[in-house]
Amino acid sequence: MDIIKINDNSDKLYYIGGIVRDKLLGVPSLDVDITYVGNAIEYCSKFGEVIQENPAFGTVRVNVDGRVIDFASTRAEVYEKKGHLPVVTKIGCSLEEDVMRRDFTVNALAMSVSTGEIVDYVGGLEDLKSKLLRVLHEESFIDDPTRIIRALKFRARFGFELEEYTRRLQEDYLAHINYNMSYKRVKKELIETFNLNSQRAFEIFVNEDIYKLVSPRKFVLPDVNIEELIKKYPVNNVWLVYFGLLPDLSRMEITKEERKIIVDFRILGALKTDFEIYKAFQDLALESILLYGIAKDMNAAVRYLDVLRHIKISITGEDLKRLGIEPSPEYQEIFDYVLKAKLENPQITYEDEIALAKKFKN
Ligand code: ATP
Repeated sequence: MDIIKINDNSDKLYYIGGIVRDKLLGVPSLDVDITYVGNAIEYCSKFGEVIQENPAFGTVRVNVDGRVIDFASTRAEVYEKKGHLPVVTKIGCSLEEDVMRRDFTVNALAMSVSTGEIVDYVGGLEDLKSKLLRVLHEESFIDDPTRIIRALKFRARFGFELEEYTRRLQEDYLAHINYNMSYKRVKKELIETFNLNSQRAFEIFVNEDIYKLVSPRKFVLPDVNIEELIKKYPVNNVWLVYFGLLPDLSRMEITKEERKIIVDFRILGALKTDFEIYKAFQDLALESILLYGIAKDMNAAVRYLDVLRHIKISITGEDLKRLGIEPSPEYQEIFDYVLKAKLENPQITYEDEIALAKKFKN
């Protein structure tokens, strides 16, 4: 999303956070954040039709020339309960106070809407040049451990590194994790990170013990390049292929569908024959098959994906009825018999299949 033009001559309206970082990096931004030094609900309603107001946070959503923009009032926050959403202590504070609640210096830059001037209270410009992620204070990860995952996301996305002191704070935190945290936010950040499909991010996630935020049990990096695997076999939910490898996901809130993908592959034992592989994988999500490959047996997964899944028998229940075989659970037995033959020799024809089925006629 590009920076949008807003007609404003005040010195109180600022693009802030990721959008300023992205503009300076010359990369497209995912969203536009604008902050008003004062009460945004009162001031920013004039820019277009108001769609929604949230007085508790001082935010207002406005349709500006067909684009939906969120305007926020500058605000100060405190983390009364560490690891959970902060409490707003002041709405309409100074820009500097607003900036101090942010995660990293490179995300704490503001740019005046009227003049384009960059306001940098925390050395964000310097860190942006050096590609460094630096927290704003030593309690930052204790207040909000999701910042550790956000850092990982920015490391993967932009090739940033952790500044040395920030790295030590991360290590300290990961050695003393407070598991009473909002896992909903952790999940959101993990999804965004893993959806980048970055082997480097996953290696950092494991080697720096970041995974312990989610799953404290020891976990060793699998000997598979998952990024390459997913490029070869594209899946809908990239993040689940990474995430599903973790041994203990009991803290995370996962949906029934997500749980199914993660659990399905775990209950499968060793698969020896083509027929066993076929039967085990035929109703599984692609994500589950890749997980089985990574965690258990890559040869079986690749054999299914490259060869076996393209083999299908042609006869149907109608054919069996026509042969005079009464519908019964025996049908499945017949289909399996034909399938076994076809897996051994994919060249067999429909007529060959009929001939095989006929053996079941009494
Ligand atoms: P993205 O491009 O992924 O959207 P972003 O930096 O814009 O990156 P958002 O999640 O949209 O990320 O957040 C917007 C801004 O809000 C950030 O740039 C940062 O200043 C601030 N922010 C977001 N999450 C946190 C957090 N957990 N702690 C402190 N500040 C945060």
